[in-house]
Amino acid sequence: MRELVVGVDLGGTKILAGIADSNGNILGKKRILTPVGADPDHVLDVIVDYITELLRVYQVQKEEIRGVAVATPGPLSFPEGVVRNSPNLGWQRVNLKQELIRRTGRPIIVEKDTNMAVLGEYYFGRQRGCGDLLYITVSTGVGGGVVCAGELYRGHAGGAGEIGHMVVEAGGVTCNCGRQGCLEALASGNAIARRLDEMVKQGQGQGILTCTTPGEHPGPRELGMAARQGDKEARLLLSQVTDYLGIGIANLVNIFNPQAIILGGGMMLGLKDLLLEPVQNYVYEHIFSLNRDNLVVECTSLGDDIVLYGCVAAVMRERV
Ligand SMILES: [Zn+2]
Repeated sequence: MRELVVGVDLGGTKILAGIADSNGNILGKKRILTPVGADPDHVLDVIVDYITELLRVYQVQKEEIRGVAVATPGPLSFPEGVVRNSPNLGWQRVNLKQELIRRTGRPIIVEKDTNMAVLGEYYFGRQRGCGDLLYITVSTGVGGGVVCAGELYRGHAGGAGEIGHMVVEAGGVTCNCGRQGCLEALASGNAIARRLDEMVKQGQGQGILTCTTPGEHPGPRELGMAARQGDKEARLLLSQVTDYLGIGIANLVNIFNPQAIILGGGMMLGLKDLLLEPVQNYVYEHIFSLNRDNLVVECTSLGDDIVLYGCVAAVMRERV
């Protein structure tokens, strides 16, 4: 009999639902846009519909389902599974776990998306089994997950791992969270897009604009294209982003002394050729030598599916 896991990666812009076997082989997946501005009840209905559809398409028998796991942007309380004041979803207080259980009539594992991602890496990534592991996603936002001594580290109430809101520049740009100089406000995809808009308004960034479709706003992708062509402004902005990421990661390395730092997220993976080596160099130069011994800093091999792999891992470890 097959042993199957259904995983759902709920994001602020898209919902990725997938079905996988217990070895992490993804049999199928489906991506849809998150209904914009919809109330949480509607989004929950959409998630349940997609789970039902996946089970129908793959002709899954009830007894074949080993578990269902849903990943959500944080903050998410643990163990209750309540989404609280989530800037990405625009939700104030939604009891995600309880509502999903009520709608489906079955147990559901709910976990913050970055926690799922670090579990995915821990079970299925190149550094699998590495007990002291940090995962950092650099995408529209910046977030992270921590595996400490082989256990997912959630903190006292579930709020650990908010790496994007580490201040890396006192008095810096104001962040969505209300503070100033957060890593997310300086080194995320949104931060870059905002900075590029400012530059364009001031008549700068012409090289980056030539890489941008007319009428559209430049973002990390266009910045990368211009940098690869040797554009000086693009390279300068990227080096600033690299420094901010390096500061944040070096801080984390000195606090946690991990064995591996795994980087992922759309922006990081899309600009890997431009970002990874400078970030590695910055980190290696700014940490204690003890913490540098055998430290791996690399990009995930699991790509966009890392959270789905995490859903499989979360189900498997729950039942072991
Ligand atoms: Zn912040």
